[in-house]
Amino acid sequence: MKRRLLKLGLLILAGAIVNIVVAWGFSVLGVDVHQTFGPGSFVFEIRDPGASWRFTSEGEGRLFGVLTDWRGWPIHSLSSDTHVDLNGAVPIDRPSFGIVASKSQLAWSTLTFPKVLPFRPIWPGFAINTLFYAAILCLLFAAPAFVRRRIRLKRGLCPACAYPIGASETCTECGRRLIANT
Ligand SMILES: [Zn+2]
Repeated sequence: MKRRLLKLGLLILAGAIVNIVVAWGFSVLGVDVHQTFGPGSFVFEIRDPGASWRFTSEGEGRLFGVLTDWRGWPIHSLSSDTHVDLNGAVPIDRPSFGIVASKSQLAWSTLTFPKVLPFRPIWPGFAINTLFYAAILCLLFAAPAFVRRRIRLKRGLCPACAYPIGASETCTECGRRLIANT
């Protein structure tokens, strides 16, 4: 019982790690998003599976905005907010709930959005993705042994050691008891 709980815990932990790696993969490997604009307020939004952005400009004459992005697949599981200040020669990114992997770039009046690794969980997305990946890992670990046992039984071999079973109820090689039709 304790072993089972430990296995389940490790599986869920592994699912959470895969979930974060996938979300951060969308942050780092995702396409660069550019936006050309002049002064004034606007909202720029992209909603996609895996990665979404929303940039709200708060500039009236000043160029300043908040980038909120959502990452994760099959649904969004992590998000971050980044305040982007575009008034100086070099844009300044101030992330909350995120680590800047690649900074904002401003060339002429085109902003290339920063790439931010988010760490604010989105509920229930974070839990759903974690369980989704835990289930996949569980299948990956269990499937090869299951398939091998089925193949051996079909060929009339002991499922444990692959020795020919013949008619006996116990494997003569490894001593495993063979229950009919399993
Ligand atoms: Zn055997």
